[in-house]
Amino acid sequence: MLTRREFIRTAALFALAPHIFAEPEIWVNDVHSQLNHTRVRDLLRPRTSDELAEIVHSASRKGLPISVSGCRHSMGGQQFATDSICIDTRSLDRVISFDQERGLIEAEAGIQWSKLIRTYLHAQADKAKQWGIAQKQTGADTFTLGGSLSSNVHGRGLAMKPLISNIESFTLINADRKSIRCSRDENNELFRLATGGYGLFGLIDSVTLRLVPRQKLRREVEIIRADDLPKRFEERIAQKFLYGDF
Ligand SMILES: Cc1cc2nc3c(=O)[nH]c(=O)nc-3n(C[C@H](O)[C@H](O)[C@H](O)COP(=O)(O)OP(=O)(O)OC[C@H]3O[C@@H](n4cnc5c(N)ncnc54)[C@H](O)[C@@H]3O)c2cc1C
Repeated sequence: MLTRREFIRTAALFALAPHIFAEPEIWVNDVHSQLNHTRVRDLLRPRTSDELAEIVHSASRKGLPISVSGCRHSMGGQQFATDSICIDTRSLDRVISFDQERGLIEAEAGIQWSKLIRTYLHAQADKAKQWGIAQKQTGADTFTLGGSLSSNVHGRGLAMKPLISNIESFTLINADRKSIRCSRDENNELFRLATGGYGLFGLIDSVTLRLVPRQKLRREVEIIRADDLPKRFEERIAQKFLYGDF
């Protein structure tokens, strides 16, 4: 119980400096452009898919908007929304299973490429024939699998389709806390919408990637005129070069 003097002092302080009593504001931004400074209502870091489902369900019950982010590299600000519950998925970073017969690896959506690659290399260290990813973004490794799938990213495969071509399936959590498996055969429409859907169709919880046989590459570098670039790409594709960049 406050004394009269304490009460008056507190009331005066509240009138003069209300910010002292306010909850500190939470601001987020993307890593590279820093053009997406956004105030969010809360910033939550679920560690399990049950926690993720609970956050989604609770926000949905209260009618609160949700935003979901991975490593925050997208520069269009798609991973944030003003006054939303912002879910940072980076603690959901476990490899769930690795089928070495079929080359399928399932991991939680917040895993980053470097951890995924380290894990499957370690698991196959004694094997003559190994599996590896077909493609990922260039320029950085700190991208999450969920962020990559949601942006349907491309790598430097000269004739490769974007990442969707390497996705076997994924699980997505909807507002009813339901985990929905999506693949070309199951919930196909959601599979097509959420891949490249920038988080608008639910929260990706885990992703199963199709790996390809690992192979040694030889790098060839040449200096050519910029005008000749499109023709050179066509020639390299015809010569069956797998990757290319300029
Ligand atoms: C240096 C650099 C190099 C790049 N190179 C390439 C490249 O070579 N090819 C290319 O295609 N792109 C490239 N990009 C773009 C980058 O690949 C994408 O922005 C990618 O989505 C970033 O992943 P992230 O983990 O940072 O996701 P974030 O930026 O955090 O999120 C990206 C989108 O995915 C959504 N999302 C994230 N996690 C989930 C989830 N679990 N469930 C549902 N939705 C989710 C977010 O809401 C947001 O809409 C590059 C970007 C940078 C900064």
